[in-house]
Amino acid sequence: MTELHTKSSHVLNKVMSQVSPSATYAMIARAQNLRAQGRDVISLDAGEPDFPTPEHVCDAAISAIRAGKTKYTPVAGLPELRAAIAAKFKHENGLGYGNDQIIVSNGGKQVIAGALAVTLDPGDEVIIPTPFWVSYPDMVRLNGGTPVIVETGQTAKLNPDQLQAALTKRTKWVILNSPSNPSGVVYSADELAALADVLRPHERVLVLSDEIYEHLVFDVEFATIAAAPGFADRVLVANGVSKGYAMTGWRIGYGAGPKVLIKAMETWQGQVSSGASSVSQHAALQALLGPQDHIAIYGQAFERRKDIVLDALTGCQGLKTVPPQGAFYVFALIDGAIGKTTPDGQVIKTDMDFALSLLETKGVSVVPGSSFGMGPGFRISFAASDDVLRDACARIRDFWTSLSSSA
Ligand code: GLU
Repeated sequence: MTELHTKSSHVLNKVMSQVSPSATYAMIARAQNLRAQGRDVISLDAGEPDFPTPEHVCDAAISAIRAGKTKYTPVAGLPELRAAIAAKFKHENGLGYGNDQIIVSNGGKQVIAGALAVTLDPGDEVIIPTPFWVSYPDMVRLNGGTPVIVETGQTAKLNPDQLQAALTKRTKWVILNSPSNPSGVVYSADELAALADVLRPHERVLVLSDEIYEHLVFDVEFATIAAAPGFADRVLVANGVSKGYAMTGWRIGYGAGPKVLIKAMETWQGQVSSGASSVSQHAALQALLGPQDHIAIYGQAFERRKDIVLDALTGCQGLKTVPPQGAFYVFALIDGAIGKTTPDGQVIKTDMDFALSLLETKGVSVVPGSSFGMGPGFRISFAASDDVLRDACARIRDFWTSLSSSA
């Protein structure tokens, strides 16, 4: 490269100056680096089930390979997988989609990216309530839109007044994520109906409902805004097999929504990546059609682990948690730590300082809350074994109690 081409401002477009690496992946990489140096590090950063992919799903993938199902698939996914997804929506959510209203993509992330890519014009606004999953705002920016971040406060849920106040003539999408990453809050059917009432007269506004944690709820009913009267045609549901079937690395997500949107997403996907991995699609088909008993087993384990974390953290004075009703995260607010000094003499000014010092001194990796638009705080992923969680929480408590007020 010439010297000119080593300068990012000459090589990269303007939008890249506003986009950061995913905060989850950044913490995962830091923890991995320390581990590679021989340090004892517990990772509570990545949002992925620690369970192995169910055996019958793995067997289906192996059979698919042996049967030579290793070629391109249709761009929008195998017809039998799209049909199985449509059947899932019918049975589990009472929603009637035709196969042409379903797209299979390379993970739920690609469903969201594709939907934004084919709908946003420069300056279009996307309402994103806090705390949000780290990638939404940057995905909006990457596709020329403007994220409109709405502070939800203590409840960590968007309410009708907040939604009403955020709507403008430029609003194109509202992103909802229930159960939520990172707070674990779950919107009830009534809460979603109240949001739908606000949106009903704003016919141009679409809703992107990220339901990837649908199967992981504790003592509450999962509900989708796509079921609100008149909304099936203006909601894109993003879901996938990653979280509910312990299949994060298989990269199979799916979207369901209005035909015109799904068709455009298929066109986009056909130009940027083609269909998702054929072998993974065969595995996902078996995940949807095969036994579902593991879901209850995961649910019980996650509920128990949530309680382990919440109990352990109650001892930390000045640390507040949002009690999760679903997913596998605990979000903690740590105003009490700001301005304090760590045992190695660092003053904590931000939640990134907190997370880095916790990692450095106690070997526990968490993701700073400000990357989710709410802070100072941090997110714990409790998708780890009970013993690992107990050990990690004891380390967090030690770290917390070792913080001293600055002189
Ligand atoms: N969604 C997961 C998380 O929040 C996986 C990592 C990612 O895609 O950001 O940890």
